[in-house]
Amino acid sequence: MPSAAKRLRVAICGAGIGGLTLAVALSQYPDIEVELYEAASTLAEVGAGVGIFPRPWKILKLLGLDQDLLNTVDRKPQEGPGTCTSLLQLINSQKVVHAFNWRKGDQHIGLPFASLVTNGPLITLHRADFQGILLKRLPKSCRVNCSKRLRTYAQRQSGLTELVFEDGTRTFCDVLVGADGLKSATRGAFLNERANWMRGQGRWQEASDIASCIDPVWSGEIAYRALIPAERLNAIAPGHQVLTTPTQYLGKNAYVIAYPISHGKMINFVAFICRHDLENTEFDGPWVGPGDNSQFAQIFAHWEPDVQALVHGAEKPLRWAIHTVKPLRSFVSGRTVLIGDAAHAMTPHQGSGAGQAIEDAYVLATVLGHRSTTRQTLSRSLRVFDEIRRPVAAGVVESSRMNGRYFSLEVDGVDFNRDAGPQLWDKLQTLNSTIVKNWEWTWTTSVDGSIQDALQRLETGVQLAC
Ligand SMILES: Cc1cc2nc3c(=O)[nH]c(=O)nc-3n(C[C@H](O)[C@H](O)[C@H](O)COP(=O)(O)OP(=O)(O)OC[C@H]3O[C@@H](n4cnc5c(N)ncnc54)[C@H](O)[C@@H]3O)c2cc1C
Repeated sequence: MPSAAKRLRVAICGAGIGGLTLAVALSQYPDIEVELYEAASTLAEVGAGVGIFPRPWKILKLLGLDQDLLNTVDRKPQEGPGTCTSLLQLINSQKVVHAFNWRKGDQHIGLPFASLVTNGPLITLHRADFQGILLKRLPKSCRVNCSKRLRTYAQRQSGLTELVFEDGTRTFCDVLVGADGLKSATRGAFLNERANWMRGQGRWQEASDIASCIDPVWSGEIAYRALIPAERLNAIAPGHQVLTTPTQYLGKNAYVIAYPISHGKMINFVAFICRHDLENTEFDGPWVGPGDNSQFAQIFAHWEPDVQALVHGAEKPLRWAIHTVKPLRSFVSGRTVLIGDAAHAMTPHQGSGAGQAIEDAYVLATVLGHRSTTRQTLSRSLRVFDEIRRPVAAGVVESSRMNGRYFSLEVDGVDFNRDAGPQLWDKLQTLNSTIVKNWEWTWTTSVDGSIQDALQRLETGVQLAC
């Protein structure tokens, strides 16, 4: 039973980036008890990279995680105008940096056409390093229970929520946070509960719309992800540019992204194969599984030599059929709340899924930590979280989807493989401006406005209650 001495007992289901960041953020509030439940038997993130843009990075800094994270990264990003001596200085100065080089890669001689310039660098981390640092920062009072896969939950009249795990055990909490990723069991139970309620009211169409959001949908895209040892890549293609410079190779119906992580010892490689015409259809086969570079080498056979070298180096990639969650009407139902991929799994074309999970975690911790949030006012406080976070995340879902179109040269009425010379150059420059406009929110804006908004709404609630 939740301890009466604590203001709230929070159960977080899922110890991924979202769940762990929330637990760290909640550790600022000693009157909140936090318990994590994770389905896996041990905490081991997938062996891959993750890029963090300035907007979520600022949150990690506020949580005091920045220095530990930076210790895992020693690559100095390319600088724009002005000079800086260290990555930390560069981040703090918010100077403009070259985050990525863009090339049109689907031709024998690749064409560099732009570089993505951001205010502050994109920090590229190894997921395992990131997870390790979050775990290290959990307070002793926060218990992490592994091998606890949530099956379902029930919100009881008493005000408590009962969690039911696959191993038959049960526990109670005041707030359940579903941070259990793309296939979230929390979302399943949450939407079933709402759909059943709608059916009870005879609102059949609404019930069916809600139930249709339980299962993720295929984006029409497949990603092959691998970590290539830098030594191996250097042996295949000495001095390959991605050893030092994050680069994206764009082409018709596919693209490749590669950047160094873990002190430059590894190259994070992802190749996307896009069939946009198959968006929202059912994917036939396992969503994640071992792959083999022969499965996609053919697609890149006519691409520039740097891409061929990367494909050759990515011997045993993981194959991911990219799935997303359809837009939800709410991230909150009573005293249950969804965050991260459980709420809004998106395509990875803005490198922002984890960033959005971090934002959710920080805003939710602010809401739960506020003095006005008690067992009695929980539902109202969670609605504040929903009203603030849902529109932001929905915008990112859509802009990420659009980036996927742009990177695979899918723009209405434009054929990038018809022209060469100045005509092609002009088209690529227009594409560049479009992508930047679509993406710049993540280095030109911050979550501060959302935090102020949340505090204001919570304060108003306090005044109303008085
Ligand atoms: C190819 C690719 C590249 C990407 N690159 C980037 C990037 O560069 N930058 C970025 O910001 N984002 C990126 N993303 C997106 C990012 O990986 C996700 O958005 C992020 O990991 C979501 O975090 P999460 O904590 O919500 O979910 P997850 O990381 O999926 O964590 C969910 C956790 O819940 C556990 N779990 C699942 N079911 C249960 C259950 N029933 N009970 C208990 N526990 C459960 C899981 O074991 C897992 O530990 C990328 C995604 C892909 C596919």
